[in-house]
Formats: sequence, C-alpha cells, structure tokens
Amino acid sequence: MQVAKDKVVSIDYTLKSGEGQVIDTSEGREPLTYLHGGGKIIPGLERQLEGKATGDSLKVAVPPEEGYGPRHQQLVQKVPKETFAGAGVADVQPGMQFRAEASGQSRVVTVVNVEPDGVTIDANHPLAGQTLHFDVTVRDVRDPSDEERQHGHAHGPGGHQH
Ligand code: ZN
Repeated sequence: MQVAKDKVVSIDYTLKSGEGQVIDTSEGREPLTYLHGGGKIIPGLERQLEGKATGDSLKVAVPPEEGYGPRHQQLVQKVPKETFAGAGVADVQPGMQFRAEASGQSRVVTVVNVEPDGVTIDANHPLAGQTLHFDVTVRDVRDPSDEERQHGHAHGPGGHQH
C-alpha cells in the first residue's frame, strides 16, 4: 500500500542537523505512527513521503520554509532578570528552556545569555531556520479504522490513548 491522504503510516526516522548531529530519532522506540495528510508531521516530510510504500527508505532534506519556519530576529529579546525571579526561577542560566504563552500561542523560550542588566531570551523554535535532514524508513501503511477516521488521528496498538 502506498502513502496517501488518510492512510495510517508508521515510519522509523532519524533527524539530523546540517552538521550531522542527531536531533531526534525513533531508534530504540516504537516507529512514529500518524495519519497522513493532516499536518501531523512537518509539511516537507509529509510531502516527500507521499507515494512511498512499506520498506522504502529515503533521505529527505526539509528547508526551513517546509519545516519550523525561518528565524525571526524580533523573537530574540532582552528581559529584566526580575521576570524570572517573579516566576520562581532564582538562578537563571543560559540554555534553560521555559514554556511561555504569547498571543495565545504556547512557545518554548530558550535563555541565550545572562548579563547583569538583563537576560536575553529566544522564542524562536529551536529548529527554526535550519534545514532538517531525515533518514526515513516506511514500516507500515494501512487504512485507518473507523474510530481513527472519526478522531482524525492514528491510534497505537492499544487503541485511543491520548
Ligand atoms: Zn483517538
């Protein structure tokens, strides 16, 4: 069966940065199972999986526009240290990540730099602006169950678990 809209697809994948560093992988875990065509995975990967079949392996390079978007410099901001103290973080350090609500959206904010006069934070997605390199193997392609069709997402072996 071929990967097409509304099929349930299982893939093994390894995601690497342009420098070859492994960012994420399904190795040692269950394959990623998703309902194809619903925007459950990043658009560039979904598009290039279209028409592939069980057992196919492919290398996919996804540019930022089809991945996590470009970096926006205006999302890098300097905020007062007190902002963190007020949120109960006494010892803010570079590399710390926080979930923050901004204009109705939940974003991960990364602390870039801590200086006496303030803390530089970056609200870009950590993978924004990067070309993503996937090694993907298609493990299974099947029709969705009636329940999956109704829910609009794939279910694991135990049924609806989310
Ligand atoms: Zn469900």
